[in-house]
Amino acid sequence: MELACLDLEGVLIPEIWIAFAEKTGIDALKATTRDIPDYDVLMKQRLRLLEDNNLGLNEIQAVIAELEPLPGAREFIDWLRERFQVVILSDTFYEFASPLMRQLGFPTLLCHKLEVADDGRVTDYRLRQSDPKRKSIQAFHSLNYRCIAAGDSYNDTTMLSEADAGILFNAPDNVIAEFPQFPAVTGYDNLKQAFIDASERPLSL
Ligand SMILES: [Mg+2]
Repeated sequence: MELACLDLEGVLIPEIWIAFAEKTGIDALKATTRDIPDYDVLMKQRLRLLEDNNLGLNEIQAVIAELEPLPGAREFIDWLRERFQVVILSDTFYEFASPLMRQLGFPTLLCHKLEVADDGRVTDYRLRQSDPKRKSIQAFHSLNYRCIAAGDSYNDTTMLSEADAGILFNAPDNVIAEFPQFPAVTGYDNLKQAFIDASERPLSL
């Protein structure tokens, strides 16, 4: 049995924090795991910026409601789900992702939760576990699933290493250079082919 494990932001949907930063004009919120590999450092910076600017979950969700999956993402994930069991392993939060998951047909999503006060202030965040992408792959292996994983950034690399096959998708040059062991592809047609190549089954486009 084969599982396809996908990162979410940068693979199927835009980077939510970048979209939010552009809408609010707070440039420092544009930082992502591409810039700050330590996720805790990154999230503490984001929460501090939200607090400093009196921005809560309502404002963030108003922006997210206007976003759409990346062009071709829905067709891609429908294609993938016909050929694999698909699980999305993301470092986003359920509170952020829901409107976009509807547009993707509600695939299975394993991610994190925010802690939000009654007045909408984001007070903290709750990671499901440490190194969640790697541990998810380890758990799927314990269930006897072969895992093929694709992601675009630093926070995906332990998932790609742990998987039976790892694919970098639309990754920035610095990530591609630092992790030459993973095939790097751009565009959904090439990603489909990379999944076919990594599969042990005779799949076709
Ligand atoms: Mg990503």
